[in-house]
Amino acid sequence: FRLPEIKNEPTRDYVPGSAEQEQLMAAVEELGSTTHHIPLVINGKEVSTGDVQQQLNPGNKAQVLCTYENAGPKEVDAAIEGALAAKSKWEAMPVYDRQAIFLRAADLLATKYRYKLMAASMLGQGKNIWQAEIDAATETADFLRFNVKYSAEIYAQQPPFNAPGIWNRVEYRPLEGFVYAVSPFNFTAIGVNLAAAPALMGNTVLWKPSNSAVLSNYVAYDIMREAGVPDGVIQFVPGDAAAMTKQVFEHPEFASLHFTGSTHVFKNMWRQIAENIDRYKSYPRIVGETGGKNYHVVHSSANIDHAVNSTIRGAFEFQGQKCSACSRLYVPKSKWSEFRDKLVAGTESIKMGPITDPTNFMGPVINQAAYDKITGYIEAARNSSDCEIIAGGKHSDRDGYYIRPTVVLTSDPYCKLMKEEIFGPVLTVYVYDDAEFDSTLDTISKTTPYGLTGAVFAEDRMATVHASTRLLHTAGNFYINDKCTGAVVGQQPFGGSRASGTNDKPGSPSLLQRFVSPRSIKENM
Ligand code: GLU
Repeated sequence: FRLPEIKNEPTRDYVPGSAEQEQLMAAVEELGSTTHHIPLVINGKEVSTGDVQQQLNPGNKAQVLCTYENAGPKEVDAAIEGALAAKSKWEAMPVYDRQAIFLRAADLLATKYRYKLMAASMLGQGKNIWQAEIDAATETADFLRFNVKYSAEIYAQQPPFNAPGIWNRVEYRPLEGFVYAVSPFNFTAIGVNLAAAPALMGNTVLWKPSNSAVLSNYVAYDIMREAGVPDGVIQFVPGDAAAMTKQVFEHPEFASLHFTGSTHVFKNMWRQIAENIDRYKSYPRIVGETGGKNYHVVHSSANIDHAVNSTIRGAFEFQGQKCSACSRLYVPKSKWSEFRDKLVAGTESIKMGPITDPTNFMGPVINQAAYDKITGYIEAARNSSDCEIIAGGKHSDRDGYYIRPTVVLTSDPYCKLMKEEIFGPVLTVYVYDDAEFDSTLDTISKTTPYGLTGAVFAEDRMATVHASTRLLHTAGNFYINDKCTGAVVGQQPFGGSRASGTNDKPGSPSLLQRFVSPRSIKENM
């Protein structure tokens, strides 16, 4: 059979005064006008636990966007048993039926529910219109659709040769047991993909969304149910991460962790899984995308205006809260004066404030803990003799968690701000001697344990060749003359190695391959 044509969902412009902008902002107003209550959903039933938590609007912390139920041990147990019980029917369903469900979910969210899902991401995650568009609307739909295309390619992969009288074939079985999907606050698309990709391949899933993204993740979850995901196939279980994780990892049918979040948490999970290894039926598939300390390196031949604009976007869009965000910048001495003037002017001119004003380029950071951590780095820079704040540096958490985009100049390429992931709007710059371009590339590689994204800006082809060769393991997504954020599903499969993750590339067949356990069959004819 032939699948419907799979293409990237086109982005919309939301020009001021346009019907699409008006409809979107009406959806924001409507969604924000009441406090929603989000249940757990186990086996298709809404479950209350009595342990009720709140998700606040990060731009206006007096507003409770939603209350949600926190799963306790009893509910986690019920969710696991229900997922296991739902498995036999789900995996026996013809592949094209599973594919049809997720294609329908993509269509629903890109049309009927587009503005509602965007509104939930804008209010809950502090995204401006464009950031909500490229996450909740287009990337979410793209993951669902391209996964279908890639799943078809996987199922079609068969051994190339049959000896006479023999028929060899490979069956792509789902994993035995259940999948545990733990998702971050920063991308609705990631949450959906963490749950939907293993489910598409015939697995059943416990989805623990981030406590700071329950509303948007629930809206997306509801769309998948409306599209036909059967009861029990994806269980929606917000809760306390540490307690839930401990319980899940002790279950003998735990088959896979599908994770996006911090490096620290992922490493701890890996250790816990190792400790429980004798309990499991199979070696669990551990799939994780974690932190980054991503760089832009500018060569003396670069187009400076383009490098400055790309750096401002890479560092400060969505308040720098992308794993891929640019947080260290290397500029040659000969270009620094021009670069600095343009970077500082561009950064200072950024408009920041509530996302209900569509002219704001930046909104709030996600919560108090993030605010405290990020501003801690800014204050550390202020008090360090190696660092100078050359733009921004101001912040306030009076109404919401607002931090001005901040640029720090350092004389020490190995200082704390160059090494540690900040996950906020802070960019640190090191100015290198033009003659030391190659050794600066080595410094970039040695400074952090991460390997997620990076970019080189140069017109000189030899410079891009050197950078791409010497920085081989520093980035799973490497950009030449473009910012290091904004990978598009179906175009630049995303993910990093080293401490940044297992690099299984969401938005590619290799991710889906992790959620099947192939069986080779040889039949004598
Ligand atoms: N895929 C996103 C990008 O390329 C980043 C995802 C993340 O923050 O985990 O910018």
